[in-house]
Amino acid sequence: MKETSAQKTIDGTVIADAIQSRLQKIEPLIPANVKLVAVTKTFPAEVVRAAYAVGIRDFAENKVQEAIAKQAELGDLTDAIWHFIGHVQSNKSRKVLEHFDWIHSIDSLKLATRLDRQAAELDKRPTCCLEVKLALDPTKDGFERDELMAALADLNELTHLRIVGLMVIAPYGLPAEETQAIFEAGQALAAEIKTVAREQGLSQIAMDELSMGMSGDFEWAIAQGATVIRLGSTLFGRRQTQANR
Ligand SMILES: *Cc1c(COP(=O)(O)O)cnc(C)c1O
Repeated sequence: MKETSAQKTIDGTVIADAIQSRLQKIEPLIPANVKLVAVTKTFPAEVVRAAYAVGIRDFAENKVQEAIAKQAELGDLTDAIWHFIGHVQSNKSRKVLEHFDWIHSIDSLKLATRLDRQAAELDKRPTCCLEVKLALDPTKDGFERDELMAALADLNELTHLRIVGLMVIAPYGLPAEETQAIFEAGQALAAEIKTVAREQGLSQIAMDELSMGMSGDFEWAIAQGATVIRLGSTLFGRRQTQANR
């Protein structure tokens, strides 16, 4: 398999140079109010360290064990912020709480309830997004729109989770108009939830963040109000395995 410039060497300086030049190309496209989260899944700890060296502080992983192993090598990066973006298996939820500051991928009331209980036990209050399924894609996790609206009152009781917004994932390879329509629906749903939360006094549910946009579609996501973009391949090159997409 072809290696990318970001992976070619584990000499931190060389990797950092490659990341820096990729970052410089995309930075002009990212408004100051949009947070860039670097998706480091499948890349080794050295790549995280190199990204840190060029100023990135937010890192996302989608596999708990892989992330824990990397974090163990990066314990000196004390101001790094870790984002979990993968499906949270119930037997891993406690570890997710222990090792991550943000959880983007809360995809059911059942999971949210479990995380809330465990967060209380661990004395944590993670920043959370509710993952919504806005495409007709049965393979993707996420709340259905109606299911989420029906769950809002119960979610509002989960005071150990700091619910800040939604995560929207557009399936890979859709025509541009369909991707744009999904992001537009994400923005509209966040606005609708905000209104409902205000009207019903659901004070625990904020809709300030829209985690939306990846390497192939982040410009469209930003155009539709994304506040957090999750970028992997555009920063670090192609991942070795598509299983981790
Ligand atoms: C892998 C992944 C990303 C990053 O994907 P790229 O196309 O490499 O930018 C973003 N969000 C989620 C949820 C992912 O799993």
